[in-house]
Amino acid sequence: LEAKEEFRHKTLATDVMRPRRSGPPLSVLTQSGMTVEEVERLIIDTTYSGFPVVISHQCQRLVGFVLRRDLVISLENARRHQEGVVSVSAVLFSECDLPASPNTPPAVKLHSILDLSPFTVTVHTPMEIVVDIFRKLGLRQCLVTQNGRMLGIITKKDVLKHMAQMANRDPDSILFN
Ligand code: ADP
Repeated sequence: LEAKEEFRHKTLATDVMRPRRSGPPLSVLTQSGMTVEEVERLIIDTTYSGFPVVISHQCQRLVGFVLRRDLVISLENARRHQEGVVSVSAVLFSECDLPASPNTPPAVKLHSILDLSPFTVTVHTPMEIVVDIFRKLGLRQCLVTQNGRMLGIITKKDVLKHMAQMANRDPDSILFN
Protein backbone atom coordinates (compact mmCIF):
# COMPACT_ATOMS: atom_id res chain seq x y z
CA LEU A 1 0.00 0.00 0.00
CA GLU A 2 1.42 3.36 -0.98
CA ALA A 3 1.57 6.16 1.56
CA LYS A 4 -0.85 8.25 -0.55
CA GLU A 5 -3.34 5.37 -0.70
CA GLU A 6 -3.16 4.85 3.05
CA PHE A 7 -3.80 8.53 3.66
CA ARG A 8 -7.04 8.42 1.68
CA HIS A 9 -8.51 5.71 3.90
CA LYS A 10 -7.73 7.37 7.21
CA THR A 11 -10.35 8.79 9.53
CA LEU A 12 -10.50 12.56 9.28
CA ALA A 13 -11.59 15.23 11.76
CA THR A 14 -14.87 15.54 9.84
CA ASP A 15 -15.72 11.88 10.66
CA VAL A 16 -15.33 12.39 14.42
CA MET A 17 -16.50 15.98 14.97
CA ARG A 18 -19.94 16.93 16.28
CA PRO A 19 -22.56 17.68 15.21
CA ARG A 20 -23.31 14.54 13.29
CA ARG A 21 -25.38 14.96 10.14
CA SER A 22 -28.46 13.55 11.87
CA GLY A 23 -27.92 15.12 15.31
CA PRO A 24 -28.69 18.56 16.73
CA PRO A 25 -26.79 21.45 15.12
CA LEU A 26 -23.68 23.12 16.54
CA SER A 27 -24.63 25.56 19.31
CA VAL A 28 -22.87 28.83 18.67
CA LEU A 29 -23.04 32.36 20.02
CA THR A 30 -22.76 35.41 17.82
CA GLN A 31 -20.29 38.14 18.75
CA SER A 32 -23.13 40.67 18.85
CA GLY A 33 -26.86 40.67 18.26
CA MET A 34 -27.83 38.32 21.10
CA THR A 35 -29.62 39.36 24.26
CA VAL A 36 -28.93 38.27 27.86
CA GLU A 37 -32.16 36.25 27.72
CA GLU A 38 -31.11 34.43 24.53
CA VAL A 39 -27.70 33.50 25.93
CA GLU A 40 -29.29 32.34 29.21
CA ARG A 41 -31.73 30.20 27.19
CA LEU A 42 -28.85 28.53 25.33
CA ILE A 43 -27.19 27.75 28.68
CA ILE A 44 -30.42 26.20 30.01
CA ASP A 45 -31.20 24.26 26.82
CA THR A 46 -27.75 22.68 26.42
CA THR A 47 -25.14 21.03 28.62
CA TYR A 48 -22.06 21.73 26.48
CA SER A 49 -18.89 22.86 28.26
CA GLY A 50 -18.34 25.65 25.77
CA PHE A 51 -19.53 27.51 22.70
CA PRO A 52 -17.78 28.79 19.60
CA VAL A 53 -18.44 32.49 19.04
CA VAL A 54 -18.99 33.44 15.40
CA ILE A 55 -19.37 36.74 13.57
CA SER A 56 -22.92 35.90 12.48
CA HIS A 57 -25.09 32.84 11.84
CA GLN A 58 -24.91 33.64 8.16
CA CYS A 59 -21.12 33.69 7.70
CA GLN A 60 -20.20 31.38 10.64
CA ARG A 61 -16.70 32.84 10.77
CA LEU A 62 -14.95 31.97 14.02
CA VAL A 63 -14.20 34.75 16.50
CA GLY A 64 -13.30 32.69 19.58
CA PHE A 65 -14.46 30.17 22.15
CA VAL A 66 -16.19 30.75 25.45
CA LEU A 67 -16.45 28.30 28.33
CA ARG A 68 -19.90 27.64 29.73
CA ARG A 69 -18.78 28.22 33.32
CA ASP A 70 -17.27 31.65 32.50
CA LEU A 71 -20.48 32.58 30.67
CA VAL A 72 -22.67 31.57 33.61
CA ILE A 73 -20.55 33.47 36.16
CA SER A 74 -20.32 36.61 34.00
CA LEU A 75 -24.05 36.75 33.28
CA GLU A 76 -24.92 36.21 36.95
CA ASN A 77 -22.47 38.95 37.91
CA ALA A 78 -23.90 41.33 35.33
CA ARG A 79 -27.49 40.64 36.46
CA ARG A 80 -26.50 41.24 40.09
CA HIS A 81 -23.99 44.04 39.95
CA GLN A 82 -24.22 45.91 36.62
CA GLU A 83 -26.76 48.67 36.83
CA GLY A 84 -29.66 48.61 34.39
CA VAL A 85 -29.00 45.14 32.94
CA VAL A 86 -32.24 43.43 31.90
CA SER A 87 -33.26 40.41 29.81
CA VAL A 88 -33.20 42.41 26.57
CA SER A 89 -29.72 43.88 27.22
CA ALA A 90 -27.31 43.05 24.42
CA VAL A 91 -24.45 40.63 25.01
CA LEU A 92 -21.27 41.73 23.23
CA PHE A 93 -18.17 39.65 22.66
CA SER A 94 -16.63 42.16 20.26
CA GLU A 95 -13.94 44.46 21.62
CA CYS A 96 -15.13 47.72 20.13
CA ASP A 97 -18.82 48.24 19.61
CA LEU A 98 -20.92 50.98 18.17
CA PRO A 99 -22.15 53.52 20.73
CA ALA A 100 -25.59 52.47 21.99
CA SER A 101 -28.50 54.84 21.67
CA PRO A 102 -29.40 56.60 24.95
CA ASN A 103 -32.65 54.72 25.59
CA THR A 104 -31.39 51.16 25.16
CA PRO A 105 -30.44 49.21 28.29
CA PRO A 106 -26.70 48.83 28.97
CA ALA A 107 -24.94 46.00 27.19
CA VAL A 108 -23.10 43.16 28.93
CA LYS A 109 -19.55 43.10 27.60
CA LEU A 110 -17.95 39.68 27.62
CA HIS A 111 -14.84 40.20 25.51
CA SER A 112 -12.60 39.38 28.49
CA ILE A 113 -13.87 35.78 28.82
CA LEU A 114 -13.41 35.00 25.14
CA ASP A 115 -10.51 32.78 24.10
CA LEU A 116 -9.47 34.48 20.87
CA SER A 117 -7.15 31.69 19.75
CA PRO A 118 -8.95 28.41 20.28
CA PHE A 119 -7.18 25.46 18.71
CA THR A 120 -8.64 24.67 15.31
CA VAL A 121 -8.10 22.02 12.65
CA THR A 122 -9.76 21.66 9.27
CA VAL A 123 -12.25 18.97 8.29
CA HIS A 124 -9.49 17.26 6.27
CA THR A 125 -7.05 16.87 9.18
CA PRO A 126 -6.37 13.15 9.78
CA MET A 127 -7.50 12.00 13.24
CA GLU A 128 -4.02 10.63 13.86
CA ILE A 129 -2.76 14.23 13.88
CA VAL A 130 -5.74 15.43 15.95
CA VAL A 131 -5.02 12.76 18.59
CA ASP A 132 -1.37 13.79 18.63
CA ILE A 133 -2.30 17.46 19.12
CA PHE A 134 -4.67 16.59 21.99
CA ARG A 135 -1.92 14.58 23.65
CA LYS A 136 0.86 17.09 23.18
CA LEU A 137 -1.08 20.23 23.99
CA GLY A 138 -3.37 18.73 26.64
CA LEU A 139 -6.44 20.11 24.85
CA ARG A 140 -9.98 19.78 26.22
CA GLN A 141 -11.55 20.58 22.87
CA CYS A 142 -10.61 21.53 19.37
CA LEU A 143 -12.73 23.38 16.79
CA VAL A 144 -13.16 22.20 13.22
CA THR A 145 -13.39 24.69 10.38
CA GLN A 146 -13.68 24.61 6.61
CA ASN A 147 -12.64 27.66 4.62
CA GLY A 148 -12.79 29.70 7.83
CA ARG A 149 -16.36 28.64 8.62
CA MET A 150 -17.13 26.99 11.94
CA LEU A 151 -18.33 23.46 11.23
CA GLY A 152 -17.82 21.38 14.35
CA ILE A 153 -16.11 20.53 17.58
CA ILE A 154 -14.12 17.57 18.90
CA THR A 155 -13.80 17.18 22.67
CA LYS A 156 -11.29 15.09 24.59
CA LYS A 157 -14.07 12.56 25.25
CA ASP A 158 -14.87 12.37 21.52
CA VAL A 159 -11.19 11.57 20.88
CA LEU A 160 -11.16 8.89 23.58
CA LYS A 161 -14.34 7.31 22.17
CA HIS A 162 -12.85 7.35 18.68
CA MET A 163 -9.68 5.67 19.95
CA ALA A 164 -11.69 2.99 21.76
CA GLN A 165 -13.67 2.30 18.57
CA MET A 166 -10.47 2.00 16.57
CA ALA A 167 -8.98 -0.39 19.13
CA ASN A 168 -12.08 -2.64 18.90
CA ARG A 169 -11.91 -2.95 15.14
CA ASP A 170 -9.95 -5.72 13.50
CA PRO A 171 -6.69 -4.65 11.81
CA ASP A 172 -8.06 -5.19 8.29
CA SER A 173 -10.94 -2.80 8.74
CA ILE A 174 -8.68 -0.16 10.28
CA LEU A 175 -6.46 -0.39 7.24
CA PHE A 176 -9.18 -0.36 4.62
CA ASN A 177 -12.07 1.53 6.16
P1 ADP B 1 -17.77 16.06 26.77
O1 ADP B 1 -17.42 15.54 25.42
O2 ADP B 1 -16.61 16.04 27.73
O3 ADP B 1 -19.02 15.43 27.33
P2 ADP B 1 -19.33 18.45 26.20
O4 ADP B 1 -20.42 18.26 27.22
O5 ADP B 1 -18.87 19.84 25.95
O6 ADP B 1 -18.03 17.64 26.59
O7 ADP B 1 -19.81 17.82 24.82
C1 ADP B 1 -20.71 16.74 24.71
C2 ADP B 1 -20.83 16.37 23.23
O8 ADP B 1 -21.38 17.47 22.51
C3 ADP B 1 -19.49 16.06 22.56
O9 ADP B 1 -19.67 14.98 21.67
C4 ADP B 1 -19.13 17.33 21.79
O10 ADP B 1 -18.44 17.07 20.59
C5 ADP B 1 -20.49 17.96 21.53
N1 ADP B 1 -20.43 19.45 21.68
C6 ADP B 1 -19.63 20.17 22.50
N2 ADP B 1 -19.88 21.48 22.39
C7 ADP B 1 -20.86 21.62 21.47
C8 ADP B 1 -21.58 22.73 20.91
N3 ADP B 1 -21.33 23.98 21.28
N4 ADP B 1 -22.53 22.47 19.97
C9 ADP B 1 -22.81 21.20 19.60
N5 ADP B 1 -22.18 20.11 20.08
C10 ADP B 1 -21.21 20.30 21.01
